Amino acid sequence: MAEQSNIPAELLQAIQRGEARVVDLTHTLGPQAPFWREGNAPSPFHAKDTATYRRDSYFGREIQIPEHSATHMDAPRHFDPAGKSIDQLAVENFLTMAVVVDVSAAVRSNPDYRVTVADLENWEKAHGPMPRGCLVLLNTGWASRWPSEKQFMNQDAEGVRHFPGYSLGAAHYLLEHVHPVGLGIDTSSIDYGPSKDFEVHRLTMFAGLYHLENVVHLEELPPTGAAVIALPLKLEGGSGSPARVLALVPNEPPARR
Ligand SMILES: [Zn+2]
Repeated sequence: MAEQSNIPAELLQAIQRGEARVVDLTHTLGPQAPFWREGNAPSPFHAKDTATYRRDSYFGREIQIPEHSATHMDAPRHFDPAGKSIDQLAVENFLTMAVVVDVSAAVRSNPDYRVTVADLENWEKAHGPMPRGCLVLLNTGWASRWPSEKQFMNQDAEGVRHFPGYSLGAAHYLLEHVHPVGLGIDTSSIDYGPSKDFEVHRLTMFAGLYHLENVVHLEELPPTGAAVIALPLKLEGGSGSPARVLALVPNEPPARR
């Protein structure tokens, strides 16, 4: 009888042996997290104790949060009325290989930087073609500004936000050449801060992709070779959901260290 493969066990054993490690790409979700809000609007994060040790012998809370809080996933329904809601997304797409494009150097001199087609072509020259159906993650270096909402949202005197994102051209290139399951970024939006019409969202949400926004620790991921597991809440009819996002990163073999 042929030996039965046990891929799940082999994967976990590889982590236990130190051949791969888990990186948490998730910000902590609490009242201190930067939120997308107007002016001096109060924090949309609310939590109240519904059970206390003293009264009930156990502890529990009731929370109220925006669907797009801290590290979160956008579902196509966010922009497309006929698009899938967060509970309808194919779970197979929550587990995917990731490519990481680093534009943090360009962002240092231009906070409104948008990743270009040339950036993607240069990435592919260096690392080979992006695998079809992967998750594309954009490392802009912006996560280091968390949890300062002032620094993270970076609004000017007119209230216009300034942070980097994807250009429409780059999004078209990815849809046509890579067919990714999703796009991710370490800012609050895959559209750059000054965007008024969310043109990249419009393109990619109507194309059925999901987004991961406000991810962190992308600098710990290699350009290729990391697997990502992104798990949103299964919110009925939801436009998105906070998500726990983990990366599985291969460690270099000891001999090469
Ligand atoms: Zn979004």
